Amino acid sequence: MSLRPAFFFDRDGVVNVSPGPGYVLCWEEFHFCEGVIEALAWLKKQGFALVLVTNQQGVGKGLMTLEALDDMHHRMQEELAKYGAAFDAIHACTCLKSDPGCTCHKPSPEMVLAAASNLNLDLTRSWLIGDQDRDIQMAMSAGVPHTIRVVGENSATIAADHEIRELTELLPLLQKIVVR
Ligand SMILES: [Mg+2]
Repeated sequence: MSLRPAFFFDRDGVVNVSPGPGYVLCWEEFHFCEGVIEALAWLKKQGFALVLVTNQQGVGKGLMTLEALDDMHHRMQEELAKYGAAFDAIHACTCLKSDPGCTCHKPSPEMVLAAASNLNLDLTRSWLIGDQDRDIQMAMSAGVPHTIRVVGENSATIAADHEIRELTELLPLLQKIVVR
């Protein structure tokens, strides 16, 4: 069986509008970034597996339940499916960053490697888009060679291959640079 390339997406600030330093706690607070659904649908048509990889420490902090997070993601998937843009897998680290027993919190590559194993992914042909250093670091640690950064409110010290300012720039960029 041949392995598929994947496109890994960070969530907050990429799929949905960043809540800033806080957390998106319910579906009513979840707002898709303009342009992201079109990009997801296009990538799916090109044969990429779509994987959401997100730290959601709000669960570990007791600000929201795991059920509430799952419900939000279920509704997100329902909405994306209308456009042929649903994720093939969602990996969320809900541990506290300070939890000494946690091995999955980004920049750990663990969630990417788990997705690769579950979905038979070829990481050497895969991409990641994120808005923070820990996203780019995770890709590098996991052996995902192609990275895109959404630049904005987060300070950047680790360079990505490509930069965009708004998600509306993603699809035009992909149509120029992505070769499967
Ligand atoms: Mg983010």
